[in-house]
Amino acid sequence: TAMHEAKQERGNHVVVFDRDIHERALRQFRLEAWLPNAVANSEIQVYFQPIVDANSGGIAGFEALARWQHPELGWVPPPEFIRAAIESGCIRDLTLGMLRSASKAFKPYLEKPSRPYLGVNVSVSDINAEEFPVRVAAILAEEGIPAERLVLEVTEDMLLGDVGNVTQVLGRLRELGLRVAIDDFGTGYSSMSYLSSFMVNIIKIDQSFVRNLTTSSSDQKIVRAIASMAADLELSVVTEGVETAEQLELLQQMGCRLLQGYFYGRPQPADSWLGDKGLEFAAYSTPCDAR
Ligand code: C2E
Ligand code: MG
Ligand code: MG
Ligand code: MG
Repeated sequence: TAMHEAKQERGNHVVVFDRDIHERALRQFRLEAWLPNAVANSEIQVYFQPIVDANSGGIAGFEALARWQHPELGWVPPPEFIRAAIESGCIRDLTLGMLRSASKAFKPYLEKPSRPYLGVNVSVSDINAEEFPVRVAAILAEEGIPAERLVLEVTEDMLLGDVGNVTQVLGRLRELGLRVAIDDFGTGYSSMSYLSSFMVNIIKIDQSFVRNLTTSSSDQKIVRAIASMAADLELSVVTEGVETAEQLELLQQMGCRLLQGYFYGRPQPADSWLGDKGLEFAAYSTPCDAR
């Protein structure tokens, strides 16, 4: 079969499409076979991407993003190996490993004047795992990260299944003092009943609404509506996928102040933001600081 490859993210990983089903199944099978070992051997690397306060230009936080280089397949796209981690049953180890490595790497940023937060992605199987909040708290304590500096990013779909349990776990996490963000907001399937400040603190507007923002008036209306709803609910908003100055300007006009995207910087090895990258850690006060 014809195989087309497209480079993405400066060669960090390669996205392969138009492959036949057999090849894809074989690849998935190999990933699932490899991944538990990779997780156990700490082969998963932590990259940080900044979330920037557009008003001050200061770094408001970092999102920790997992990176994995397979010895034969090269860089594997995160959604692909995250799926393999879930299927092969090592997602919990992967998540707690990410939380630990990200916490270690975050330490030098703790004292920066903008008081950046650390965002870590979690999956539905993490949330439903026994003792998840206790383990999170233990890692934060061991690594010396105050709970209020951690934001756990969950997707909407997570709130589809055993809502009772998820509500309880989110409640326990909130009691620990950390914050919860709804990731990829607007792309999932669920009710909006979780959009109370008891459940979540931050809405992350999905990058699909930003991609054509400058030309699509419906995307503009959606983003404006989400921003105004979030303001009413006293939730913070982070907008993902900001790639151009035009998008940045529009988003600022719409009141979207916390922005994440290639315009400010791509995910990089966690320590790369310590040096001078043109981004500042200027003091700022984000609304989410207060909650
Ligand atoms: P996400 O949590 O929504 O992370 C944001 C994704 O958007 C990242 O892709 C990031 O590299 C990409 N991105 C950031 N700015 C831009 C931009 O301006 N343009 C474009 N086109 N993309 C941008 P990445 O690192 O490939 O991760 C994809 C997804 O994989 C994540 O989406 C998240 O759902 C999952 N993921 C990554 N790391 C982890 C992890 O440690 N644990 C879990 N459970 N999931 C993870
Ligand atoms: Mg995320
Ligand atoms: Mg997202
Ligand atoms: Mg995403």
